[in-house]
Amino acid sequence: MKELLLVRYGEIFLKGLNRPYFIRALIRKIRYALRGTGSNVWVHDGRIFVEGFEDLELVIDRVTRVFGVHSVCPAVEMPKEDFDALCRQAISMMADMKGTFKVNARRSDKRYPMNSPQINMEMGGRILEANPQLKVNVHDPEHVLNVEIRDQAYLYVKVIPAVGGMPVGTNGNATLLLSGGIDSPVAGWMIAKRGVQINAVHFHSYPYTSEQAKEKVLDLARKLSYSCCGIKVHIVPFTEIQLQIRDHCPEEYTTLIMRRFMMRIAEKIAEQTGSGALITGESIGQVASQTMEALETTNSVVSMPVFRPLIGFDKSEIIDIAKKIDTYELSSLPYEDCCTIFTPKHPATRPKKDKVAEAEQKLEGETLIAAALAGVEVVQV
Ligand code: ATP
Ligand code: MG
Repeated sequence: MKELLLVRYGEIFLKGLNRPYFIRALIRKIRYALRGTGSNVWVHDGRIFVEGFEDLELVIDRVTRVFGVHSVCPAVEMPKEDFDALCRQAISMMADMKGTFKVNARRSDKRYPMNSPQINMEMGGRILEANPQLKVNVHDPEHVLNVEIRDQAYLYVKVIPAVGGMPVGTNGNATLLLSGGIDSPVAGWMIAKRGVQINAVHFHSYPYTSEQAKEKVLDLARKLSYSCCGIKVHIVPFTEIQLQIRDHCPEEYTTLIMRRFMMRIAEKIAEQTGSGALITGESIGQVASQTMEALETTNSVVSMPVFRPLIGFDKSEIIDIAKKIDTYELSSLPYEDCCTIFTPKHPATRPKKDKVAEAEQKLEGETLIAAALAGVEVVQV
């Protein structure tokens, strides 16, 4: 008898002729997630199996976090000839279960001496005998004991939900503006979940922001990189731009002008890295720079689509996801971000785009951006 993990995918099914492409992509991502565990990933009849592992819990933990995996089922593979042994195995798999169940047999080996209804009846009867707490319900059972008769027999019952989404890389590439806060890692995770490969851009203002603040962002990227299959983080020196803004622009607009520079620089990096969109962690009205007028002001300096997956989320909802994806604790470490230095006492909440653009005129925008881009440090995590 051999322990296996059956991997089920959801939405990939919808992709018609592209299905083999998505399955291949998913297998690559599962292999990536399982590297170092000694396990094998293989496909049979459009079904993905993992085998050859020592630690089932570890394999389940890793595979259920791969985008594109809908659920996993611990399964056993055993010789099909000994029907009594199959029943004993089925009984042991159902031993700790309560409520209703059915047996769902599928026989691709048509020479097998019993047909599917016979297997259902006989095995179901024996399970009931051994576990009188259970009841049969063939229409809407709480548990389904699956038996597949192929070259070998496969049995599985437990279904463990996984993250869902689509395999990373099957839906293009986007650039995440990653701060050290709670929101932007969640925003990146949500877009990556839809099969998008993420690049990150982080602006830091050394020495006003510390080395620790930068390390914290890299640690956040590392957390994300597990599900996102590696992330390139572009660290942009932002001190000079912030000082110029502080010294030459009206105080009420400083945050907005800073955000406009971030967007412009991120768009340039996105173009260089083949990204089709930018991603931010903004949510309507969360802070002064995220009112509708403020968003229009910062959005208007780029032409690339900007994805804001958190736009309609409350902070508490964002925190729930951050906890689920395990970025919350890191994000809560108290290092300053360049958005939190030189903050105006009374930021404009209903800025006029033209006024902000005028206020920016005093800066050598092109030169500042070119200098920042020249100083970018790239870290692959
Ligand atoms: P977060 O929790 O993501 O930091 P926030 O509520 O603090 O969000 P802001 O500081 O206004 O919001 O930033 C809005 C968005 O701008 C962030 O979600 C992020 O996408 C981007 N951003 C802010 N600061 C930085 C930075 N230092 N580097 C890269 N992107 C940033
Ligand atoms: Mg922030």
